[in-house]
Amino acid sequence: MNRPEPAPTDRILAEAADRFGTPAYVYLTDVIEARIAALQGALGRWFDLSYAMKCNPNPALLAWLKDRVPYIDVSSGGEFLLARSAGWSPERASFTGPAKREVELRRSIAAGLGELVVESLREARLADRIAAEAGRRQDVVIRIAPDRVPKGFGDQMAGRPSPFGIDIEEAPAALAEILALPHLRVAGLHIYSGTQCLKPAAIVENWRIFIGIFRDLCIAHDLHPDRLIFGSGLGIPYHPGDTALDLDEVAAAAAPDLEALKADPRFAGTRLVLELGRYLVGPAGYFVTRVTATKNSRGARIAICDGGMNGHLAASGHFGMVLRRNYVMHRVGGSGGKGGSEEKIDISGPLCTSIDKLGSGVMLPRIDEGDLIAIHASGAYGPTSSPVNFISHPTPREIIAEGGQLIDATRIEGAGLRDD
Ligand SMILES: *Cc1c(COP(=O)(O)O)cnc(C)c1O
Repeated sequence: MNRPEPAPTDRILAEAADRFGTPAYVYLTDVIEARIAALQGALGRWFDLSYAMKCNPNPALLAWLKDRVPYIDVSSGGEFLLARSAGWSPERASFTGPAKREVELRRSIAAGLGELVVESLREARLADRIAAEAGRRQDVVIRIAPDRVPKGFGDQMAGRPSPFGIDIEEAPAALAEILALPHLRVAGLHIYSGTQCLKPAAIVENWRIFIGIFRDLCIAHDLHPDRLIFGSGLGIPYHPGDTALDLDEVAAAAAPDLEALKADPRFAGTRLVLELGRYLVGPAGYFVTRVTATKNSRGARIAICDGGMNGHLAASGHFGMVLRRNYVMHRVGGSGGKGGSEEKIDISGPLCTSIDKLGSGVMLPRIDEGDLIAIHASGAYGPTSSPVNFISHPTPREIIAEGGQLIDATRIEGAGLRDD
């Protein structure tokens, strides 16, 4: 369950906590490097990668990724600014989001955005007008909302009413209208309909649905797209008992569909893009929190920590989890002379609310005041999706560990974010 960590990782986590303070996110670039290599090895025959930066927009991490991943997907004007200031050239960016404001469209189009991911007819018409005023022809990819997603996706948005993309039912008519807009150039299609899937067969079935939609729409409108963007759906293990995806199994099962797509002359010049966030960076991050106090309360032992849901909403179970389940976590440091046996403990954060819980009935070696607890799979949807201002505790530090080097990459709140 809570497997003992290899010592080198623990040394890095302890050093980060001692030097920079807690709570702290520690991102291990070696792990990201290995994941990029694994993705390229298994799926690189068909796909180029695009990093969905909303899962971790840490500026230093973005700067590190820019030489290792070809494309980036931004979900707001603020993210576009962050990516650019981290060194990403605007042509490498796509811009998704269901409610882009006029100012965001205006700025990103003027700045030379690679592709606008158009999510509605309204957005297409607005972008066409803005592109005309800017004297540009803007590349767009059209986001389609499918009507089904296979079972097995932890988070799925298909088939139900959804703010995202153009419903497949409306797509033929909408596409015809968008193709007629003179200042937009339809460069391709995009689908992202679900994520956090740990079942290879379901992922491949979902890609098959994408391919069917892409092919039908391209034939109907005689498109020879530059690119087709696949929201990957690839999940990562979060909880005890979760099993990591086997990418080779995904690749083997997806090969016939992807090979057939590649062999179709209509798609001879088409680049396939795998858009993903958590799979790339999630397992590379640890959330390290120090135990401020322990308490025995009515038969339960509780460790009260300096970081909680304010720093790590997802691990508290309040970010898209229906039933709260513990993340995998461990006590940093070997047995420390405390013996090897484990005991049951609840892990809470510093907030004055009963929902601030990072673990319930977790089996860990003896935990005392001053100990460090490391929560795994915390490299994605960490600080960026946590209510860090709630109750005015310090925001978590963010540390990048590259080899043995620790770099303080704590994001300055609000920097570069106002885009209006
Ligand atoms: C969030 C998002 C992703 C990435 O999702 P992960 O689960 O982190 O892989 C990809 N594409 C779009 C459009 C997104 O909004």
